[in-house]
Amino acid sequence: MKHIFLPISIIVIIMAGLLPGVATMTGRTVTAHSQSAQPTASKFAWPEGKRVAVSLSFDDARVSQVDVGAAIFDRHGAKATFYVMPPAVEKRLDGWKKMAATGHEIGSHSVIHPCSGNFTFSRTRALEDYDLAKMRAELKEARRSLRAMLGVEAESFAYPCGQKFVGRGRQTKSYVPVVAELHLTGRGWLDEAPNDPGYVDFAQLTGMEMDGREFDQILPLIEKARENGQWLVLAGHEINRGGNQTTRVSMLEKLLPYAQDPANGVWLAPVGVVARYVRQQRGDR
Ligand SMILES: [Zn+2]
Repeated sequence: MKHIFLPISIIVIIMAGLLPGVATMTGRTVTAHSQSAQPTASKFAWPEGKRVAVSLSFDDARVSQVDVGAAIFDRHGAKATFYVMPPAVEKRLDGWKKMAATGHEIGSHSVIHPCSGNFTFSRTRALEDYDLAKMRAELKEARRSLRAMLGVEAESFAYPCGQKFVGRGRQTKSYVPVVAELHLTGRGWLDEAPNDPGYVDFAQLTGMEMDGREFDQILPLIEKARENGQWLVLAGHEINRGGNQTTRVSMLEKLLPYAQDPANGVWLAPVGVVARYVRQQRGDR
């Protein structure tokens, strides 16, 4: 029981080292995570005094994006980014031409959507069986096809299944450098944080899920990103009233007016538009 005779100042110092937010004898507050409080992102200057950038993005060229989503975006005068595969675009070719012509961004999502062969749908086109040359050829072909079909340059890319590798074991390679070479941006999937505009690698933008969420679940993501001056890229698949991998119409009907109310300080714009702005502000190439 000798330790109870330690001087009180020593005990306070020990506690200050162990506990976050304990005041030391000098009155200074010691915070365990003080390094995370550096306000780098909040200094980023969004246009027109906006405090956060939000991009809405949808993958796979699901037909509901044209059949259901297009009218909702039109009604609110909002623009989104659609990461498409050319074979899927053919199912609603006229609809996608109209989407492109009305200011939505058309990005690439590869040609045949290769993911890990652990997904049975991807076993015959598994990333484990790809190499960088094969991936480079496919990504070039996707851009060429989209140019021919829709007359657009697909500068933005979203990694199918959010997976960024080819090969397996010691032969595994990241294909992020290929995306950086062929595209302005590459977006992930099921990420846990928004992008810090002053820091982010454009070839690895984060994408946070909006499928299956109501607006009261999305709003805190926007509020948190706004506190930090960040760029929130939301990602979804189907657009409908309900169902699997589906961004809810009810959520969009609340999110779009919120994002367009100047009082909320939100810059709602497609991924490519925000990326170009950020790059210019950072003085990147
Ligand atoms: Zn996909």
